[in-house]
Amino acid sequence: MGKRRWGRFAEVRIRATGGDLMNVPTRLNRRSLLIGTAASAALAGFAPLRAQEAPTPAPVPPPSPPVDRWQALARITDGGLLRPSDAGFASEALPNNLRFRHVRPEGIVRCRTPQMVGEVLSWCQDYEVPFAVRGGGHSYAGFSTTHGLLIDMAAMNAIAYDPATGRAKVGAGAINQPIYDALRQSGRMMTHGRCPTVGVAGFVLGGGIGFNMRRLGLASDMLVGAEIVTADGRVRTLSATEEPDLFWATRGGGGGNFGVSTSFTFDTVPADRQVTAFRIVWRQNTRKVAGALFAALDDAPVTLGTRISLAGVTPTLHAGGRQVAITLLGQFAGDREAFEKLLQPVMAVAAPEFADIREMPYWEAQNFLMEPGAPAWYRERSAFLDTAPSETFLEKAFHHLVRWPGTGAHGDLFFFQTGGRINEVAPAASAFVHRGSRWLAVAGVSWSEHDTVRPEIVRAAKKWQDEIYHDVVQAGGHGAFINFPDASLAEWRARYYGANLPRLAAIKATVDPGNLFNFPQAI
Ligand SMILES: Cc1cc2nc3c(=O)[nH]c(=O)nc-3n(C[C@H](O)[C@H](O)[C@H](O)COP(=O)(O)OP(=O)(O)OC[C@H]3O[C@@H](n4cnc5c(N)ncnc54)[C@H](O)[C@@H]3O)c2cc1C
Repeated sequence: MGKRRWGRFAEVRIRATGGDLMNVPTRLNRRSLLIGTAASAALAGFAPLRAQEAPTPAPVPPPSPPVDRWQALARITDGGLLRPSDAGFASEALPNNLRFRHVRPEGIVRCRTPQMVGEVLSWCQDYEVPFAVRGGGHSYAGFSTTHGLLIDMAAMNAIAYDPATGRAKVGAGAINQPIYDALRQSGRMMTHGRCPTVGVAGFVLGGGIGFNMRRLGLASDMLVGAEIVTADGRVRTLSATEEPDLFWATRGGGGGNFGVSTSFTFDTVPADRQVTAFRIVWRQNTRKVAGALFAALDDAPVTLGTRISLAGVTPTLHAGGRQVAITLLGQFAGDREAFEKLLQPVMAVAAPEFADIREMPYWEAQNFLMEPGAPAWYRERSAFLDTAPSETFLEKAFHHLVRWPGTGAHGDLFFFQTGGRINEVAPAASAFVHRGSRWLAVAGVSWSEHDTVRPEIVRAAKKWQDEIYHDVVQAGGHGAFINFPDASLAEWRARYYGANLPRLAAIKATVDPGNLFNFPQAI
């Protein structure tokens, strides 16, 4: 993104009045009338009548050609429209999850103001054009792709930190890296993810997890205000006291359900001067290491943020002696010695093959922990666990892990450590309902371009993933994380939203009665 120059149109723009509408083709947008023909201009400049004179019938202008709906949209967006024949369209249309790269929009608009968003929504309704809203474009399930109009928010990406309040206001089109840069410059931090190109909108609307969440809460718990454009074109300011229902829904209700968010305001805290960041890999005795690791980390202080991943291994490699690799990644707001003490029982089971454990300033650590997130083919299935994985569960999981059918990429079972501050918030206090867990388990598979012409490999990988996911559910895995949307979930409403679903549905019915914001897993 960002390589293309978005052209600009200079247009005469006239608000519609009752009288002007007489000779206007009915396909014009009902909210704003864009008159470009010479005949229309003559009508607009018609001289006033003299008193006694018999009224001369106004010359009837020849019917104007129907205004092309795309021209009308280009005018509304002041040239911020890209069509398939425009240079750069194909790359602009590409989602992060290449499984959905065939879903091509008819047009992409880049909105610059909340008012423009409102007019674009109105255009979509007038011309009955389906649309999707895109922030960073990383939806796992392709929910920011469409065959209609793609509403791209990338231009609304301003970031401002206010030292007086300690709050950061972020445009809904901003992606992670510039937000990190702004926070780093201000000496602040919040709960954030690891991928530099994930968008703040999708991230926070679904809750937003990261290595700070056990001590600071979810990103949506740090949200203190937001702005959204709803189906009626209204620009609404949200906070605990302004439109509190919609603000409640904004904190974990998932992207794309209630309107187009245009900005978010977060509380921030001073960035740690020093944290211990670590990446440790075990390849020996990993079945026992897994048990020891969950036991050691389960009672760890909330200043520890971790992700444990168990990598699938193809049977042939396994026979050749390779084991499931375990990677522990994360940060500890404390010194290296204290962290190593925590991990000592695990180190006693097996020495890691690789260990990079370093003290460094907070934002330097985030570079160390970064996940590049280049476009790829992937699918993830998630569930929350209220206890650490049991030995029985790990036994089953390892049975599957050493039978990874193998793609040109990865198959993993990974666990984000949750709990702490997240669980101090009541499930009904915001739309994010999953407040009692200790781990978030994810079965993830990805594949390569080469695999796309070997559908049997992809099918086998998904089957393998389904089996592991089934084991997670049998072991008590409940719910699903809306930020990792899973199109294969039958009971997705209950899994994403649990007991908060009725309130979310009622809010949706109030702000979007016509169900304008609609996609396969819309509330
Ligand atoms: C590599 C990678 C790393 C990740 N790491 C993390 C992580 O550490 N923590 C975490 O919580 N999640 C993580 N995620 C998941 C990520 O948070 C979600 O995929 C999120 O929805 C992506 O947001 P986006 O804006 O980039 O995506 P998009 O696809 O643009 O948007 C996601 C959804 O939100 C909607 N949406 C986007 N913008 C708006 C808007 N302005 N108003 C209303 N709706 C909107 C879209 O229509 C879509 O339904 C990761 C994903 C990837 C691919």
